[in-house]
Amino acid sequence: MTIWSQITDRIEKFGSHSVAILFAFLATIALTMAGIVPAIEQTNRDLRSFVFERDASGQVAVVEIDSQSLKAMGSWPWSREAHADLITKLSENGAGQIAFDVDFSSAAEKASDVILADAISNAQAQVILATFLQQISNDGGGYSENLPPEIFQTHGLLGSVNVHPDALGQVSQYNYGTQITDQIRPTLAALLTRSSGQVGKSFLIDQSINLTSIPSFSAIDILNGDVDPIQIRGRNLIIGPTAAELGDRYATPKNGIIPRVYIHALAAETLSAGRDIPTIDGKALLLVTLALAILWWNIVTSSKDNQNRLVLPLLAMLLIVSSWGFFVYSLMEIEIASSIIFIVCLFLTDLVIETSRTTKRERTIDQLTGLPNATAMMDVAAKNMTAEIVVAEIANFAEIESILATEEQAEILQSMSKRLALLAADEQIYRTGRNQLSWFVADGYANRLEEYFDTAATFALSPTQIGSKKMRLKLSLGYHEGPTSNWFQLLSDAAMAAHKAAEMNYRWLKYSNDINQIIDEKLAILNEIDQAIENGQIWVAYQPKLDLSCGEVNAAEALVRWDHPQRGKIPPDRFIPILETEGDIANLTLHVLKITLTNVQQWSKSGLNISCSVNVSAALLGDPKFVSSAIAHVQQSRIDPNQIVFEITETAALGDLDKAKAVLEGMRKIGIKLSIDDYGTGQANLAYMQGFPADEIKIDQSFIKSMARSDVDRVMVSSTIEMAHKMNFKVVAEGVEDADCLALLRQFGCDTAQGWHIGRPVDAIIFEERWGTHAQTMTA
Ligand code: C2E
Ligand code: CA
Ligand code: CA
Repeated sequence: MTIWSQITDRIEKFGSHSVAILFAFLATIALTMAGIVPAIEQTNRDLRSFVFERDASGQVAVVEIDSQSLKAMGSWPWSREAHADLITKLSENGAGQIAFDVDFSSAAEKASDVILADAISNAQAQVILATFLQQISNDGGGYSENLPPEIFQTHGLLGSVNVHPDALGQVSQYNYGTQITDQIRPTLAALLTRSSGQVGKSFLIDQSINLTSIPSFSAIDILNGDVDPIQIRGRNLIIGPTAAELGDRYATPKNGIIPRVYIHALAAETLSAGRDIPTIDGKALLLVTLALAILWWNIVTSSKDNQNRLVLPLLAMLLIVSSWGFFVYSLMEIEIASSIIFIVCLFLTDLVIETSRTTKRERTIDQLTGLPNATAMMDVAAKNMTAEIVVAEIANFAEIESILATEEQAEILQSMSKRLALLAADEQIYRTGRNQLSWFVADGYANRLEEYFDTAATFALSPTQIGSKKMRLKLSLGYHEGPTSNWFQLLSDAAMAAHKAAEMNYRWLKYSNDINQIIDEKLAILNEIDQAIENGQIWVAYQPKLDLSCGEVNAAEALVRWDHPQRGKIPPDRFIPILETEGDIANLTLHVLKITLTNVQQWSKSGLNISCSVNVSAALLGDPKFVSSAIAHVQQSRIDPNQIVFEITETAALGDLDKAKAVLEGMRKIGIKLSIDDYGTGQANLAYMQGFPADEIKIDQSFIKSMARSDVDRVMVSSTIEMAHKMNFKVVAEGVEDADCLALLRQFGCDTAQGWHIGRPVDAIIFEERWGTHAQTMTA
């Protein structure tokens, strides 16, 4: 199991949504801490202030202590007298309030202090003086306040002028007031605009105010009386240094680095315009979003249909963004970046988890059938050291593919996997290859493997109804056990065993080194068959057929036999399929036909008039050379062609129907009779066989043998007999193994019975002895 699949497995167990929510939340916090969220928020704000740019009201003006003023006055700090002069001039010109962002805390001569104090008290305008907070020590100790001398405080007000850069190093917010020990100190802008706000609370400075629209004057122009009093009247003035050499400059979001005095002016403008919207904390909004996300998760997990899971976060996102977007536009100052980032992270995480789940599903599920595939089987195998596996090869899968539509193929594979699963401990069946179904051997039957395999293979034989078609999957099982560390070898060896079994027409085969011997055997069969025919190793056995109307054996089936000098008796099931697919089945069939014709002729000479069936592989109908030779052999023999029956398996009816019909018609014309062998195991039903050039149908042994136990099979047999008669077909039942079965067939009106109960296949001499005119004793 790969690390990745382990991770995704865990995630699935934990609940992908809770993981997504948690992850998105943590990611948002991390992004906030990394300054990315504030940066986005700032960009957002900048954009807004750019779009909504407006001019200042003009209520607040700045008196700049600029370099021009410094040059004119000579030194800095200025004397108390100079400041007193400024107050007097401004007051005389009708200023509303005069605020100083100038430090008066340093000592000066008493006389000078008195002059300034007098100016403050005499001024018509209200004077505000600056206080500064200063850190006592560098190691983060307490703060001390730099205050102007007591003498100024009698008539002047004190306003705090400290500003605080944010995480991005920019001054974007402004306080209403600060608290030092027990002293509450309003800020300069708050005093100037007579605004009240909570101590410690801040508001965002309205960045949309155009800085250049704030009226400003050079201090020296005021002192020289060069400013028109109209410009001063009724305005609130903030006096502060702007000259570069005096420092006191701060970075701001929109206007870049500006003197602090302008920050006060912008803050005062913000306050007087009533735009000091308290920053709605992004964290609070994030929590609301989180709550909504959890709600959404609950809704999603409680609903059965998880298909549209991705649509929901999208909808939630739209809903949240649109509702908050409205607020943002109207109020313009809500910090929504963290919430948006959260939703985006949530969406992306969910997408990643969902994609990984889908790929995992796709990786382990067979597309056609929805059954778990070889990878899924490997994942399970990896949990154990060793595994015992069975691979079932569907030998006739190519046929299935050519006959059934894709959905029908899926259906038949699914129904087969259900059947197989039912066999033992409800195993999981895997589709490990195009024509392979595989499973692990469960503990329950590990000690009864062979019995189990036989049951599985026969069980699979009964046909499956797919729409109007009846199909039978021919399964051959391969078994193998071994360490899972070499999984692919294990699986492919088991598959090889299954394939060998299919080739050899075995029900099952355990993988072992003698698999190679089986390959040897196959090669031997192909190499040796011609010689075997020449050397007389091939002979024909005849199995009697009992005519139920007269109670006499008047027919037989010719069954080929191979007595191999070294390998012993090789059953036809072992070599016929090999010759059919890779060798020369025509040659063997003609050989069997010749022997049969000879024997039938001999028998009739000695008074035993028997008709005899010969098995003809369906594929041979497409071989004109074989067809004409077979017909020629029958015609050249001195027996009535009526005494020869060709048994052709039902599959023949399915190939090129018209062509098959034409060939069969030709055979019938000269008198050869035709029988449809193994009826019921293939696709054809009787309706389909209407007008088919055949004389009889042979109901497959599997139905006859199970008739006693299975109601379904009994009904199948009786209804087939009835129907076939209506269509003028004679009916042969093969595999009759006991008297009860024979009695049932009589009852159903079956024409002919064949099976061990009547007689086993025997050679021609024994056949004549047993079934010759004088020897007939079968009266059952
Ligand atoms: P088939 O044509 O269905 O032949 C019937 C098979 O069932 C024969 O097996 C027969 O021995 C067996 N059988 C008959 N009665 C009973 C019964 O009551 N119980 C049981 N359990 N079995 C019974 P066999 O001889 O082993 O032949 C197997 C198959 O090999 C045949 O199935 C046929 O498909 C093929 N085959 C045999 N001889 C030839 C041949 O000359 N040419 C071709 N092309 N195929 C042949
Ligand atoms: Ca047959
Ligand atoms: Ca048969």
